[in-house]
Amino acid sequence: MMRLILPFILLATGLWAWSLTTSSLVWSAYDQSLLLSGWLSIALMSLTMMLALRPAWLEWPMGGLDKIYRTHKWAGILAVAFAAAHWLIEMGDDAIEAVFGGISRLDNLHVSGLIDTMRDAAEDVGEFAIYLLFAMLLITLWRKFPYRYWRYLHRAMPALYLLLAFHAVWLAPLDWWRQPVGWLMAALLTGGSLASLLSLSGRVGKHRQVQGTIAAVETPEPNITEVTVDLGLAWQGHRPGQFALVTFNKSEGSHPFTIANADLGDGRTTFLIKALGDFTRNLANKICVGQSVTVEGPYGCFDFNRRNRKAHQIWIAGGIGITPFLAWLDASAAANQTAPEADLHYCTGNASRDPVIGRLQTLCQKFPGIRLHLHDSSKGQSLSVENLSASEPADARAEVWFCGPVGLGQALERGLKVAPLRLAGFHREAFQFR
Ligand SMILES: Cc1cc2nc3c(=O)[nH]c(=O)nc-3n(C[C@H](O)[C@H](O)[C@H](O)COP(=O)(O)OP(=O)(O)OC[C@H]3O[C@@H](n4cnc5c(N)ncnc54)[C@H](O)[C@@H]3O)c2cc1C
Repeated sequence: MMRLILPFILLATGLWAWSLTTSSLVWSAYDQSLLLSGWLSIALMSLTMMLALRPAWLEWPMGGLDKIYRTHKWAGILAVAFAAAHWLIEMGDDAIEAVFGGISRLDNLHVSGLIDTMRDAAEDVGEFAIYLLFAMLLITLWRKFPYRYWRYLHRAMPALYLLLAFHAVWLAPLDWWRQPVGWLMAALLTGGSLASLLSLSGRVGKHRQVQGTIAAVETPEPNITEVTVDLGLAWQGHRPGQFALVTFNKSEGSHPFTIANADLGDGRTTFLIKALGDFTRNLANKICVGQSVTVEGPYGCFDFNRRNRKAHQIWIAGGIGITPFLAWLDASAAANQTAPEADLHYCTGNASRDPVIGRLQTLCQKFPGIRLHLHDSSKGQSLSVENLSASEPADARAEVWFCGPVGLGQALERGLKVAPLRLAGFHREAFQFR
């Protein structure tokens, strides 16, 4: 008898559970996934907006503005990924209704009047903004898209954020505003909206901007322009290795360049600029002595005073990435300091035509503890993890400071982590914001 009744009870229970699933569990999972993906997206987007303010107080804990920008970039990418999930879940409601029946509790709120109208508007605005957001992400990841056009498009992001904040405010469940999740959301939306308004009104970084004039322009080599800017006493000074955002031309906007000289308190800053793109190519013909310039900064924490004094120092520069090391040596010479013991590796495309080498050798002669190694790729000499670790004692504790092409930095860091030498730290200056 039980042989029949037990399966019968199981079948009846199973079908009852199926009805439960259709009517509530699936919709409940759907609603919560929709809310969670939307919440994570707008929370990360608010963070992205606030990091775009270039907050100087965050530089020390995060390791410099270049790292803040990297966090800004990844928070932005993740925000769009969650937005995509949110959009896909939202699109899935018809399929769920067709299979399981029922309706989302979020669509069944029984609100009317203004709230209903605003919620409808928020849904439409959200859908419109999300398509623009996807387009923006694709353009950002498509590295061939020219930077100078990308930056104009990127300036529209705060406006897009305000649309998405409107969407989030009206579509978040009402009971959230009485709980910690709602309080955090209110704080993030306020911070993100204020940051967006500051960005849209062009006020980001204004208090760190100083007007100066170009005191000298030299081209030691056709691909390198050396620009000296006189900022006078308005310049608050800089630490060796820091960089500034330099605007030579308002329509071009600012470009980040490392300050290649020591701060002598006279407001003079020198930039060694390599022709790496449209604006920096032929730069000497686009600027002239006496021209006014806006310099914002200083920024960055690529500062050898932060070095681990118990670890052997390995400094590696690739091409124009030599600029912070020039500033370090220049500052130590100006302060009559005895620089630390370090192996300084400089990778150059062609040593016979590189104007930096002479300057570097003169500076290094002042510091017997600095051993300069040149790697001239025109002679087939390249710096690799193998030859780097071969020149160090196997059990040495070494700290590496790297500035140069992103790919070389990543390859060296990956390789050195598994090399016999004990890596005490790998500091990398990112010469790339996007
Ligand atoms: C922290 C930092 C320090 C730097 N220091 C130096 C230095 O001392 N000497 C030097 O020669 N170069 C330096 N650079 C690189 C320099 O900023 C770029 O080479 C320059 O901005 C290229 O401009 P472009 O219009 O000629 O190139 P484009 O053809 O417009 O772009 C080439 C690449 O340069 C970068 N870039 C362009 N414009 C900007 C911008 N406004 N802001 C940020 N990145 C941009 C982008 O990654 C872009 O893909 C530094 C970069 C950073 C992030």
